[in-house]
Amino acid sequence: MIRRTRRQNLPRVPLGGSTPPFDDDMKDMTRITVVFVGIAVLMATVKAVIFEIGRKARRRRYNEDYLTSDEWQRKRALVLKRDHWRCVHCGARATQVHHTKYARRNIGREPIEWLVSVCEECHSREHERT
Ligand SMILES: [Zn+2]
Ligand SMILES: [Zn+2]
Repeated sequence: MIRRTRRQNLPRVPLGGSTPPFDDDMKDMTRITVVFVGIAVLMATVKAVIFEIGRKARRRRYNEDYLTSDEWQRKRALVLKRDHWRCVHCGARATQVHHTKYARRNIGREPIEWLVSVCEECHSREHERT
């Protein structure tokens, strides 16, 4: 991320005591603005980092708990059966099930309409895009 300060664009105030008080006030205002913008940028960054950590933890929990559960195995078998064990992309034998959407708040409650049977090759291609 590039942080730009607006200070560089300010007109230079000549040194030597001839500066009217107005300019000093403006300088202070600009300094305060720069500080506030800096804080805002910093907070946004911290928020983004925290969100990213949370997302990774949720995904890990999802993979560890749900994808090894009987519930998932059952659902997976249903999807493969529905698609006749064929990859929905290329028609090869499907060995995996891909989520077109994730139930963010209700992990494991996704309807089988959100799941599609895929072969390994198409599946990895699917995830390269994201
Ligand atoms: Zn395929
Ligand atoms: Zn997938």
